Amino acid sequence: MRTSPPPHPLQVPAPELSRWAASTDGVRYVHERVADTEGPEVLITALVHGNEYAGALALDSFLRGGLQPRRGRITAVFCNISAFATFDPQSPDSSRFVDEDFNRVWAPAQLDGTRRSAELARAREIRPFVERATHLLDLHSMHEPCAPLLVTGLLPRNIAFAQSLGTASQVVADQGHADGVRMRDYGHFGDAAGSGIALLLEAGQHWELSSVQTSRNVLMRFLVRAGVLDRSDVPFGWLLPDVSPPAPVEVTHRVVARSMEFEFAQDFRGGETIRHAGTSIAHDAGEPVRTPYDNCVLVMPSIRQLRPGVTTVRLGRRMLAAPAVV
Ligand SMILES: [Zn+2]
Repeated sequence: MRTSPPPHPLQVPAPELSRWAASTDGVRYVHERVADTEGPEVLITALVHGNEYAGALALDSFLRGGLQPRRGRITAVFCNISAFATFDPQSPDSSRFVDEDFNRVWAPAQLDGTRRSAELARAREIRPFVERATHLLDLHSMHEPCAPLLVTGLLPRNIAFAQSLGTASQVVADQGHADGVRMRDYGHFGDAAGSGIALLLEAGQHWELSSVQTSRNVLMRFLVRAGVLDRSDVPFGWLLPDVSPPAPVEVTHRVVARSMEFEFAQDFRGGETIRHAGTSIAHDAGEPVRTPYDNCVLVMPSIRQLRPGVTTVRLGRRMLAAPAVV
């Protein structure tokens, strides 16, 4: 059996978050900033996965900065704090969750059911904040050093919102996961007739400095675009230059490992466009894995969690036109 690759180095240390444990609304690690004027209900979440602390560093720094919304409310939540509490720099890949993936428990039947786990308990605490949010930005990062992504689901309003942020992040429209519902796909966020905006940022490798910078940039741009802040409110040093993002990619296929012998043909980093249909991009159980169509885009290749049944890369098509900004 193959051994898993060595962990990537920790360019930035894990944040010290205990100061945020106590909160005014009684739910641990949940903090609200409220304006005098009515406005959007913006929810920013970090540490949905316990070892993905780039987003937590950005959120910690946002809270410490004391910035107040001009309109509406900003709620900041450090989600899977029990998993984060087990973070060990000697084994940094092992604190993703305690009992199960926090980002697969968001079906109402799961949340309303009687099953118990550390993640379900925390999701049940956070659920009211998710339900009241008009805008959700969920800050994640990736196993491998990959170009950043904004994951939107398939609704045009989310794709357009992500595209309008003016960041270098590749907008990825995908269908969610067969093995459980993500927080960003919860309830009203998945309603085609609704207006809720929910984005999931994959900022780059978990512990790289650039992932923290990407998280900070996207966080502030999201707050401005949602309308709780004006651009002139953003403190110096948070924003990266405006970028015209590449055309969105719609995920059409997931490549699922069939064996422990799965191996990519090259050191793919994500975002590569494979020109010809039928190109072999990997081998699995002695068979080539081929691209299904011309100009196929690779999204988040990784074999770090390799076992049969795990997604190793998503395949997508560039959308010819992004939906209009609403
Ligand atoms: Zn994650």
